[in-house]
Amino acid sequence: MMKQAGSLVSRDVMRDLTIYVDPSIASAAGPCNWAAAVDSAIRYWNWAATTSSSILKFRTVPAQSQAKITVTSGTVSGSTGEQAQVPFPSSGNPGTPIIVDLVKFNAAQLGCNGDAPHLIGHELAHAIGLAHPGPTGSGDITAVSVPLRQIRTR
Ligand SMILES: [Zn+2]
Repeated sequence: MMKQAGSLVSRDVMRDLTIYVDPSIASAAGPCNWAAAVDSAIRYWNWAATTSSSILKFRTVPAQSQAKITVTSGTVSGSTGEQAQVPFPSSGNPGTPIIVDLVKFNAAQLGCNGDAPHLIGHELAHAIGLAHPGPTGSGDITAVSVPLRQIRTR
């Protein structure tokens, strides 16, 4: 369950939400293929949009200059163990970048086929303006249910 945040992505942008996967995560050492995780998250979101007659459409692009959202690796600060972060939308554009803390993700021993796409899908929801239902700052990957797992098992 997520709720709408204060700002929104414009309709034209929602129709073509371009994503660039930075080499720092696409080629990162470690157990997970993050480019594949992004592809999976995109498939889930686009499928969900189709079934709900939404205009929302994500796709990857080969250059950052073409992208509305960049997915990259980095350090996510904070004491509550978040493994990723992204700003909310501004000026009609989605929040960017999605930063995944690979050290924290790997340390948590989360799965590549389920948890990695779930994490990306969750951050994509924030990027287009969905917030956690609780107070600001609450929640983490386990606290919020974007319907990715359910979709994945269909
Ligand atoms: Zn979140």
